[in-house]
Amino acid sequence: METYQIHIDGIVQGVGFRPVVFLVAAELGIKGIVKNDCDGLNILFNASQSVAEDFFIKVKSVAPLHSKILSASINKIADQAYPDFSIVVDENYNSEKKVLMTPDVAICPECKIELHDSKSRRYRYPFITCTNCGPRYSIVKNIPFERQQTAMQPFIMCETCNDEYQNVNDRRFFSQTNSCSDCGVQLSFIQKDLKVLSDNSEEVLLLIRKYLVNGKIIAVKGIGGYLLMCDASNSGAIQQLRIKKHRPKKPLALLFPDLAVVIKNCEVNYQEKKLLQCAEAPIVLLKPRKFAYEKIAINDISPGLNRVGVMLPCTPLLDLIANDFGGPIVATSANISGSPIIYEDKVAVDQLFEFADFIVSYNREIVIPLDDSVVQVSKYENHQLVLRRSRGYAPSHLPYKLKNNTCFLATGAFLKSSFTLAINGKVFISQFLGSGECYESQLMYKQTLRHWLKMYNAQPQVIIADKHPQYFSNNYALELAEEFAAKLQLVQHHEAHFAAVLAENDLLATDEHVLGVIWDGTGLGDDGNIWGGEFFTWHEEKICRVNHFDYFPVIAGDKMARDPRISAFCLLNAFSENADLIKNKFTETEWINYCSLLENHQGLFSSSVGRLFDAVACLLNVCSLQTYEGEAAMALQVLAENYVENNGFLIDASYFEMFLPDNKIPVEILIQGILKDIITGKQKDYIAAKFHYSLVGLVASVARRFNISNICFSGGVFQNALLVDWLEHELGMYYKLYFHKVLSANDENISFGQMVYYDNVLKSVNTDIFTNITMAIHSDN
Ligand SMILES: [Zn+2]
Ligand SMILES: [Zn+2]
Repeated sequence: METYQIHIDGIVQGVGFRPVVFLVAAELGIKGIVKNDCDGLNILFNASQSVAEDFFIKVKSVAPLHSKILSASINKIADQAYPDFSIVVDENYNSEKKVLMTPDVAICPECKIELHDSKSRRYRYPFITCTNCGPRYSIVKNIPFERQQTAMQPFIMCETCNDEYQNVNDRRFFSQTNSCSDCGVQLSFIQKDLKVLSDNSEEVLLLIRKYLVNGKIIAVKGIGGYLLMCDASNSGAIQQLRIKKHRPKKPLALLFPDLAVVIKNCEVNYQEKKLLQCAEAPIVLLKPRKFAYEKIAINDISPGLNRVGVMLPCTPLLDLIANDFGGPIVATSANISGSPIIYEDKVAVDQLFEFADFIVSYNREIVIPLDDSVVQVSKYENHQLVLRRSRGYAPSHLPYKLKNNTCFLATGAFLKSSFTLAINGKVFISQFLGSGECYESQLMYKQTLRHWLKMYNAQPQVIIADKHPQYFSNNYALELAEEFAAKLQLVQHHEAHFAAVLAENDLLATDEHVLGVIWDGTGLGDDGNIWGGEFFTWHEEKICRVNHFDYFPVIAGDKMARDPRISAFCLLNAFSENADLIKNKFTETEWINYCSLLENHQGLFSSSVGRLFDAVACLLNVCSLQTYEGEAAMALQVLAENYVENNGFLIDASYFEMFLPDNKIPVEILIQGILKDIITGKQKDYIAAKFHYSLVGLVASVARRFNISNICFSGGVFQNALLVDWLEHELGMYYKLYFHKVLSANDENISFGQMVYYDNVLKSVNTDIFTNITMAIHSDN
């Protein structure tokens, strides 16, 4: 009898892998141990060579539902005799720290049945879990995943739970989050004077239902933070919520009790159904049925939009709340607009009564804050677009093969921040970490990053940041580089986007040229201007900027991104004689002020397609002042979608010529064409659709000019599902089109792109830390 070691790498912890290994070992009569380690799952055992090989094959074939095997190996090791087969939990973790953290998993069908089965001992226990479901990443204090290294550590299992935990035949065998109402997590219902009205779970649930029905706002502790809830049919309650949150128009998400109620109220296709019910349980953007408008206050929930964010309960607590209530509930992150989700209990009781009449909390700590993820399926081509990557999806691991085996950290961008850590050959991408504008988000970013560095024992040798010297992520990178004596590398914003989408589609090693269409709101360019309408090529490990939208002047700094009138003003002044057409949108003082700013323009320009969307939305009178990021672009998209719904992808012309003169993108022709259509009284829907179509045609023109058939798309503009559909519809037959798959198209992908760019392009370039930071300082946006 010899001794072997099987090592399995991937998502292998917190998914019930050890129990299935145990069962296979028992079946084959194998003696040994299985344990979670910092590098994954390790099985050490005695067997003959043929039995060992058989065992190896079987173990791989029984991998549990939510596991993901990246690699598995078997090796003969020094002899050691085992008396039986056991699951071992030791604290001598000395292997390389590189195991993947398992994302949180929504309540599974089996637990759901038990939750509603009056004969089950966990009937209506709001924290029911099993080896296949429950909180994971959000409660992780350290790796590997063991109860004592999570927020479940203070909860000691009662005898019955412990019996299940020890019982090979129980589906909670070795379940690290196992608990019941006798030994587990406890709810509490808190009122404004901080008095706990009840900590009996049935009473709490009764109170929640009662107060939701009465139109109250309740803050409920979810998996990754607190959610604000109110009755989705109560327009008054929703308006109260909006006023308190300082969120006049940004869409709010809805929690539905089950799929049947969703189908009754929204159009749902097969792929959307799957998404709603998957273990990641994201918010899915759906089109409400006409009839739903009578029952749900849709116009208060997503004003001006044709879709509403819908989710099914991802936790037993949310399941009980939604089912007791029976209809849709508004469920939105508890935060002031722009700040990150509130997840700490102390902060919650200090701050949440500003918004909520009551707080529903529980006594298990949230270690890592997470927002709900948001996904959309495009209507015509069924493209799955991730709009926010957080609970359920994060942390993400991409099968990217690192060229450098050093530890590096990429700190991401600004408005949609995230970080990427490359360690021991693995690449991990954090969840969306809020906007770097706000102090609380910066704090959350730093805490999460520090937590990761500690868990992985990481000492970054290279730190990669955006070139913008005013980004929080850039400043913090500088600080970390000093602290770790690491090399600091700066990567241009849009090149990082391109690198991310190239890597995600495995195109880095291709021999063919690839065109990168990178369009977003803002990013500091290599020439000191604000880029955002860029065309790059990728060939032989080099990115070249080959074209961009004609520059237009930038004035008023940050304000321009919030006020589409300013974009319209700058574009009209630059490219037409008709600037006075929009004079009536400004006060006299504003007009004089902006005219003077333009006259004394300091020479900062932009090629941003995001600002172009803003300007066109303003010209069409659908959004003159944004109350949230992307509002103007979404309003324009809605118009174009109306057109396509009635006419299909059929339109008579583009604003651009089919062949571009002088390799320039003549924004002038575009603006003048739009103005002409407005003046001659063309329908808004038509103009919006023609604008979308013009962008599609433009991509084809550039691809033709450079004779490239592979085209990659990245940047916030490609969150526009109609644009993605139209590209696919128009160009899909002639070109190979590549979009993001796992990552979102917005700045959440920048940190990954920075890491890829460094690993592929900068790897051999030896630049001094501080010589890079000589960019002219320009105002953001
Ligand atoms: Zn379960
Ligand atoms: Zn128990």
